Parts: sequence; structure tokens; C-alpha cells
Amino acid sequence: MVIYRISTDTEESGVLVNDRLFPGVPIGETSREMCLCYFAVPYQGKKDDISLYLWAKDRAENVTQGPFFYHIRKKRFRKDKIRISERLLDALISSFPAEIFEHDASSIEKYLFINRELRKTNSDELQEHCRSFIEERLWNGPWLRMKNAATMALFGDQRVYYYGGKIIDRSVHLGVDLASLARAPVQAANNGRVVLARDLGIYGQSVLIDHGQGLSTLYGHLNGIAVTVGQSVTKGEIIGNSGKTGLATGDHLHFGFLVHGVPVNPIEWWDSHWIKDNIEQKLRNIDNLIRK
Ligand SMILES: [Zn+2]
Repeated sequence: MVIYRISTDTEESGVLVNDRLFPGVPIGETSREMCLCYFAVPYQGKKDDISLYLWAKDRAENVTQGPFFYHIRKKRFRKDKIRISERLLDALISSFPAEIFEHDASSIEKYLFINRELRKTNSDELQEHCRSFIEERLWNGPWLRMKNAATMALFGDQRVYYYGGKIIDRSVHLGVDLASLARAPVQAANNGRVVLARDLGIYGQSVLIDHGQGLSTLYGHLNGIAVTVGQSVTKGEIIGNSGKTGLATGDHLHFGFLVHGVPVNPIEWWDSHWIKDNIEQKLRNIDNLIRK
């Protein structure tokens, strides 16, 4: 997160991560001069290939960009082998409507369609939903992690799929899988507004919550949805129950955290110390600076 001041004629500003602009938002309601911007660096690739700049455009379309200090830490992600059996293949395919597949497609072609094309379509849909967001901060404190749930998969897991002893596909897991009891209640992890509550392909029955300032959370594979689009939710409110809809082999919750539509590791957002040190303390420092 970066906090910065803009001049009054600024029309658009934010952080450029390589070619992608993460928009900034005004911090307070009274002044639009002080802004903050949440941004995400890509999980793949080398850190030396990542460029970060503060970026702004004024009413006359003049563009300025400037550097800021940052440090990117190396992160290694796990590898996960997934063996696809004939039985699993049939079970997974049958949970999707037959009309999404080509007529003469084989089981494996159907599976690859789900894991590649549908996965990409769903990720694009999520990004599209996050393009318009609530500027105001609705969230408060750390996000909730599903109660009494075991972690089944981590963010960034590099999945390699085997079929008949051969590698047939690869994907990266862009959330955390949490399993509790079957059809366990799922809570809104923080205050926000529901922006999506429907079937979302590989994620099955899904809910997307906008927490403001470009932060949102995704709840996938639900068995039932208890909220509707446009509804305001408070932290802890039940939004549905867990299930295995979409591309899932067992009852679990796929919890995704998105920064302007870019999936990031949810772990830090569950951590009150991390929120305090990396967000609240910085906001307080800026507040003191302005008052002086
Ligand atoms: Zn998942």
C-alpha cells in the first residue's frame, strides 16, 4: 500500500505495476488530496522484472510518474501433483452443464476445457467485476478465516495434473481451500457489499464481496447462497454454506482475496498484526504528519 498526495488538477492516479494501473482512492472524505493505493505484484516471474511507479494524469492529459522505495521479498510456492482418474474425470465433468462442451469432445478434452478455457473466462469475469469498486473503506480490522477449518490448499500452489501417467495440464491455485464440516456456514470475512452471487464456472456457486478501496473477497464452491447482489453485509454475517459445486472434489470453501481483481495471498489479511503494522500504523503516521 502506498500513501501519496496529489495536486488538485489530478484526474486519475495510482500505482503502475509493470503495465497495469492499480487506481488510488482518497483517504478521507474531507480532502481528496491524500490518496492511498493498494496494489499487488505478480506471483509469478522474477522480482527484478517487476517495475513499480507512482502514476498520475491531470485534466490536460499530462502524465507524470515517479519512483518510490520498495522491497520485494522472494516467495517460493508449493508444487502439488494431482492424479486424474477415470472416475474423478466423470464426476467432475458431470457437475457442469453438457451444453458448455463441444459435441464430440472426449472426457479428457472436456476436462481440459474446464481447467483452461473456463478457468480463464471466470478469472476475466472476476477482474471485470472488480473494475468498478466502492472507493470508500467499508472494511474494518482483519478478515475472518473460516471457523475450525483445515487448510487443504494454499495460495500459489503449482498444480500439475497427471492422467494415465502423463502430465496433461498445469494451473496455479489462486486462493486458500478451507474444509470444515459438510455444508458448514460461511461468513462474510469483513464488512462490504455483495457484487456477485451466482454460479461462476470452476468456482461453482460463488459470492464476491467488495470491501471498498479495491479490496474484495471470493467465496467459491458453495452449496447455497444466502445473499443477493447489492446487499450490504457485516463481518461474520452468514452468506451461504460450503459445498462442492464447480471444479471441486470434496466439500470445502475456496477463499480468494483480490486487490483490484488480482488474486493475492489471503494469509496476511487474516492477521491483525500485519494489518496494524502495514496499514493502520502508516495511516496514523500520515495523520500525524498532516496535523503538524
Ligand atoms: Zn480452491
